[in-house]
Amino acid sequence: MAIEFNERVARIPVYPAASAYALPEDVALLASNEAPDPPLPAVQEAVAKVLGGLNRYPDPTNALLRRALSDRTEVPPHRIAIGNGSCDILLAAGDALLEPGAELVYAWPSFSVYPHLEAASGARGIRVPLNDRQEHDLDAMAAEITAATRLVIVCNPNNPTSTAIPLADIARFLEKVPRHVCVLLDEAYCEYNTLEDPDSSIDLLKKHDNLVLLRTFSKIYGLCGLRVGYALCGGDEFPTAVNQVRQPFFCNQAAQAAAIEALKHQDAVAERVERAVIARVELESGLAELGITPADSQANFAWFDLPDGYEEKAIVDGLAARGVLVRAGSALGREGALRVTYGTPQQNDRFLHELGVLLGA
Ligand SMILES: *Cc1c(COP(=O)(O)O)cnc(C)c1O
Repeated sequence: MAIEFNERVARIPVYPAASAYALPEDVALLASNEAPDPPLPAVQEAVAKVLGGLNRYPDPTNALLRRALSDRTEVPPHRIAIGNGSCDILLAAGDALLEPGAELVYAWPSFSVYPHLEAASGARGIRVPLNDRQEHDLDAMAAEITAATRLVIVCNPNNPTSTAIPLADIARFLEKVPRHVCVLLDEAYCEYNTLEDPDSSIDLLKKHDNLVLLRTFSKIYGLCGLRVGYALCGGDEFPTAVNQVRQPFFCNQAAQAAAIEALKHQDAVAERVERAVIARVELESGLAELGITPADSQANFAWFDLPDGYEEKAIVDGLAARGVLVRAGSALGREGALRVTYGTPQQNDRFLHELGVLLGA
């Protein structure tokens, strides 16, 4: 006899892990939108300091971290939720908001974790295709909202397409969304967006108590190995609800300490953004030499269709064989595309060189 699982388990997609974990050291890891730089020395020291206290549970209220985030954002601490990565908050939002008969609206292709929410809850997921610039089509998304809609997710900048939509468009969209619908603006990459002050979306919280800004320490802060993310909320109910549906100690001590320290180094954040923008320009011009025009990236990665006549799998496997790991578009909603994280200048050069070899350039 095999173990009999509930029917949700058959529905929930298995997250496709990047095949990077038992590889030699000189592999260029450009598949998971990670920061190429190690955590700052001060952040590593903050983690080292808590190690001697690991016989104690972490603070379940995340008080110091929420205070630090509140000081930076002016969002009151009781409107800030913390998570074991921002995905933890995302999944908890699905758990707290969705159920059979409810509806969830999101763009597609977008973040590969969103389909999990409908599968886990039995809600109906409505995927709204991106427009031909590979951006969210907010009018089409608004048109899908019904009395059954509980959650709308907007990913800005969007993963995997790297594109951003103007905040003014999002503000107009929010005016149209009924107040019973939670709008979750996933801003995992907002710091890399040079078209907009990353913190300007925070003003929208004052006007929309149904708005949640989902952010993370995984990308620009380079702490994805520790798992810590947060949500800035327009109202009080969201943090309470996502805390109700989760285990009490969802953010570990080391993660809390690292995040608090990392927030003190905004100069390093600015430097990382600068380096990402340099990488963006270099990759765009290198790809242009190969006849490839990537989507207009406002994130830390490039997204592009391969030239006609080239198989995605052959290119992804060929790059891997040459020590460069990237993500295949078919795993992300668009066959024939590649998503390539900006690495160090050397890694970016290596990627461009190897892609050129594979394309016969
Ligand atoms: C990377 C990413 C996240 C962050 O996930 P964590 O759980 O915080 O590591 C969230 N949303 C999107 C769209 C992402 O690409």
